[in-house]
Amino acid sequence: MRAKLVVGNWKMHGSLAANRELLRALVAGLPLAGSTEMAVCVPFPYLAQAQEMLAATPIRWGAQNLSEHSGGAYTGEVSGAMLCDFACRYAIVGHSERRALYGESDAKVAAKFLAARAAGLTPVLCVGETLEQREAGATLQVVYAQLDAVLDAAGAAGLSGAVLAYEPVWAIGTGRTASPAQAQEVHAAIRARVEARDAVLAASLPILYGGSVKAQNAGELFAQSDIDGGLVGGASLVVDEFLAICQAANC
Ligand code: PEP
Repeated sequence: MRAKLVVGNWKMHGSLAANRELLRALVAGLPLAGSTEMAVCVPFPYLAQAQEMLAATPIRWGAQNLSEHSGGAYTGEVSGAMLCDFACRYAIVGHSERRALYGESDAKVAAKFLAARAAGLTPVLCVGETLEQREAGATLQVVYAQLDAVLDAAGAAGLSGAVLAYEPVWAIGTGRTASPAQAQEVHAAIRARVEARDAVLAASLPILYGGSVKAQNAGELFAQSDIDGGLVGGASLVVDEFLAICQAANC
């Protein structure tokens, strides 16, 4: 049985003052029982604040991106080792906003995945199709290509200890959620794809769902056999919503 994981993706939101309130309230409202792990992936400048406020709590923290390089003349970039200086556990790689807005190719995402592993971080690898691709019947083709780029670069063993997130692009920040059945179908296909390379790994691999997860739909999504928790954007900034989502994962 895989433990559930709920990761908040703050995107480019927050301020020192607002984060302080949010993190305080999350810590104060932590679900009392259950094995679900909670984490927040915050903007780089707030990693020190997350570390300071969360170090003595069960909530983990991480970044939303990292460089594929370990260091050097890469102005504006942040390396995996730098994230480790702030005791990050997680680094999101391949978020659809990075793929679409910053031109991150499957190969670049695979390089970032390797960089995260090399630094000792847990990558949260995002895969997912656009609405156009879904309507063209190409969902699995797209998701497999994104996944295979990492499997080919890292090998199946390289995925051990990592986290996958299926995030249909059409459901991110749109209020439109994949139905539990739609999400489960893709999650099962992703697990089967990994299973073809390594059955033991596939059975233990956490696959999160992301795309307009809210308190109201989380329970049904997390009840699906191949959905191991959520990657949560907008709702992770709303204390009661995020806590309720984490509570739904605890059931
Ligand atoms: C995300 O940013 O990964 C995400 C899933 O966003 P939202 O929950 O707002 O759709």
